[in-house]
Amino acid sequence: MTTTDAAPRGASRTPEAARALFADLTGRDPVGTWSAPGRVNLIGEHTDYNDGFVLPFAIEQRTVVALGLRSDARIRVASTLDAAPVEVAVSDLDGLFPTVGAHPAVPEWAAYPLGVAWALLQASGATDVTGVDLAIASDVPVGAGLSSSAAIEGATASALNDTWDLGLDRVALAQVGRRAENEAVGAPTGIMDQMASMLGRPDAAIFLDCRTLDANVIDLGFAAAGLELLVIDTGVKHAHSTGGYGERRASCERGAEIMGVTALRDLSVDDLTRAATVMDDITFRRVRHVVTENQRVLDTVHTLRDAGPLQIGALLDASHVSMRDDFEISVPELDSAVEAALSAGAIGARMTGGGFGGAAIALVDHEKATAVTDAVNAAFAAAGFTAPHIFTVSASAGAHRDA
Ligand code: ADP
Ligand code: MG
Repeated sequence: MTTTDAAPRGASRTPEAARALFADLTGRDPVGTWSAPGRVNLIGEHTDYNDGFVLPFAIEQRTVVALGLRSDARIRVASTLDAAPVEVAVSDLDGLFPTVGAHPAVPEWAAYPLGVAWALLQASGATDVTGVDLAIASDVPVGAGLSSSAAIEGATASALNDTWDLGLDRVALAQVGRRAENEAVGAPTGIMDQMASMLGRPDAAIFLDCRTLDANVIDLGFAAAGLELLVIDTGVKHAHSTGGYGERRASCERGAEIMGVTALRDLSVDDLTRAATVMDDITFRRVRHVVTENQRVLDTVHTLRDAGPLQIGALLDASHVSMRDDFEISVPELDSAVEAALSAGAIGARMTGGGFGGAAIALVDHEKATAVTDAVNAAFAAAGFTAPHIFTVSASAGAHRDA
């Protein structure tokens, strides 16, 4: 249910936009449309690339790809977000990617769908595939921490996997999306977003072990408990490929190396006492965030199963404090959103996504959604911040063929 200033809902308009763009591009109708959702991460931030645990869910907002076949072996991509289509020969993909030094040889947005095509061919070993035109539209807010990147990857990967009859399963398609983002775009992200976008289910989150890729569906029970999840998009843009994300990853790798483990996933909260004595303060605080955050994900899963969603608030709050003080990836707008939401009665609140901007989430009783929204808006106005975009998300299905 929408409380205020809703994000546009994808159910009807986005497929139409993709089909209309396809018609503009080719003068024909597409053979089909595929879509994949954005995601919100309930808890488990910066744990994915540390082989740890995350608990995201797919949201209603989706990216849609309309696809048509060509008579040559070229691939052309167009998006409603960029006026200029980009076209390359399928046989040239190997020369374009992987991208050295994070500078795509094509406009950055086009490196997502073209990188997916490249990674799919790499993963499947296929070479002799038919050319395609892809027209892309989306209602996932871009750069807001809701993973428009995984949505464009998942929609493209699903469309090409079906069209080229490659037979890759959902986990393999998630890995293809990640490879495209890491090696074609040059953004060093983990696997969480792609797994959530591929595996999402209505009213449920995906409890993912990022080491084994074991995924379990966890019922959220938000509606039954009278709860909704507000997303507070601060409008502050982050840039994964250029921001502090890579630096945080490097700290985590350094911490794991000092502790003699493969990844921070292999440390428990008890190991932090020793960690504090063998590394510098900054590295230690980065490590402490990841280790305690992993434990909070496990605790959230148990709490949802045993006690229900009303009891997870303190875990969400502790996650935010850890990211603010130990991992240092929050910004004043996110802190303000969380503080205002909690003082207006939210059950729990935290920044979500990679940090340095993007969105916060607040779990709220349906009755209090308007009061929380008003309080956040008022806090932003008082601080002189640009007004946030506040809307409700609900857990939805993962990638699929639409038509
Ligand atoms: P987030 O995933 O949080 O939205 P990212 O920086 O990871 O932010 O990904 C956003 C980038 O993905 C955009 O800058 C653009 O390059 C690409 N992208 C996402 N959705 C689309 C789209 N519908 N059309 C074109 N490019 C897109
Ligand atoms: Mg992203």
